[in-house]
Amino acid sequence: MPLKVRVDLDLCIADGVCYALCPRVYEAGPDGKCQIVREFRGARPNEGIVPDDLKDCAEQGRVACPVGAITIEPA
Ligand code: SF4
Repeated sequence: MPLKVRVDLDLCIADGVCYALCPRVYEAGPDGKCQIVREFRGARPNEGIVPDDLKDCAEQGRVACPVGAITIEPA
C-alpha cells in the first residue's frame, strides 16, 4: 500500500538527518528544510505519496527526525 508522507515545516529545523538517511524520499528544500523528492511530491513540496517498497527508508527518516516533523500514514 502506498504511503502518504508529510513534513511539518513549522517543526523542521533543517538539520538534514532525514535526507541523509533516505535521499530516495527526502531532500533539502531551498531553505534546507525537508521536502519530498520531485518524483513522489504532491501539490505541496512537503507532502507526497511514496511507494510501499520505500517504506523502510521513509520510516528510517521519520524515526530519526529529532523534532518529530515527519508523519507517515497509509495513502
Ligand atoms: S530530520 Fe526532521 S528536522 Fe531534520 S531536516 Fe528532516 S524533517 Fe527537518
